[in-house]
Amino acid sequence: MAGPSEAKGFLFSYSGDSGTRAVEGRVSPRRENFQISKPREMRSVTDLPMQAPLSLERWFSSRRRDLPWRTPPGVPRDPWQTLLSETMSQQTRLEVVVPRFEQWLALWPSVEEFSRSQEEDALAAWAGLGYYSRVRNLLRCARILAQEGWPRFAHQLRKLPGVGPYTAAAIASFAFGEQVPMIDGNVLRVLSRVGAIAGDLHGGPGKRRLEAAATAWISGRDAAVVNEATMELGALVCLPRSPMCHSCPLAETCRACRDGQPERFPQPKPRREATDLEAEVLVLINEDRILLRRAGAGELLKGHWTLPERSQLRLETPPDDCGLVRHAITHHRIRWRILRSRERLGRIPDGMEWCPRPLLPTRLVSSLPRKALEQAGVPI
Ligand code: SF4
Repeated sequence: MAGPSEAKGFLFSYSGDSGTRAVEGRVSPRRENFQISKPREMRSVTDLPMQAPLSLERWFSSRRRDLPWRTPPGVPRDPWQTLLSETMSQQTRLEVVVPRFEQWLALWPSVEEFSRSQEEDALAAWAGLGYYSRVRNLLRCARILAQEGWPRFAHQLRKLPGVGPYTAAAIASFAFGEQVPMIDGNVLRVLSRVGAIAGDLHGGPGKRRLEAAATAWISGRDAAVVNEATMELGALVCLPRSPMCHSCPLAETCRACRDGQPERFPQPKPRREATDLEAEVLVLINEDRILLRRAGAGELLKGHWTLPERSQLRLETPPDDCGLVRHAITHHRIRWRILRSRERLGRIPDGMEWCPRPLLPTRLVSSLPRKALEQAGVPI
């Protein structure tokens, strides 16, 4: 645990949720109305975490990358551009996102214009960015926002379809100036190293410690600047492997760096035991259409289109065996035996639908049924 002499220049303020209360008192919907308190040099040293040092902001002002959705420090971002860029950036590389973001804005410069688009057009414009559920949610969001306007606080934004805690905090912080921390993978890595925060930080007490650390980190500062600077530091300097501590503005007080073992943090999530899932899946072809079904509650692809299982249809003749497809989703190990048939069915069960082949790319969001179709000789 850090002693007072180690804490020079930082605000150590965490004891239970005291840091959170201190920040909540300053929440304001507009950046210009902020009451950002003057940084105090030091407070009681109890445990983690600490306030972001000014060296981080100085580093950021000279090293920040120019991205099309960014605005100069202190200038609020456009909320639609923030929602769009954060949605596109989820599990997609920045080099891919930047040109696609600009193309998208050329098509739909505002949330109102996007809200009037057809789902097919949105899905087609999203092609190659993965996870089509994200663009469906984006369209649902746009329709709500065009009708009701933008909520200005993270807790309200989180109620929008597909908007999780991170994206809600990004919009609230960058566009509306709420004093709220953002925690993505980069922030988690930086803070876990700076404070040498041990344990699983993705859930339970570890997650709460990380949230307290992130709240204290922005206290007394402009949250939008500190959030962005910390993410940038994680992306450019505090890399998962071989962090560049020699050129890091946090090096002097980073506990993991001082201990000479920055890569010990963040500590890996405990592995969940793998679950095996097996099924016989049917690729039923009728001229140029494939039979699909919506996955139900309790299924892995819940709510999405997938292929029917053999047990769900009564066939007169045995289908062709096309072999096995193996796939992994989170901790599930999946083995599908792929069967193919051209048998004419009479009535199809509820929840199933014939899908013309040209529409398959927009209906099948998961790569698992796509692999199955490929295995059956019906590539999409
Ligand atoms: S000093 Fe090293 S480990 Fe610590 S934040 Fe900087 S790059 Fe990361």
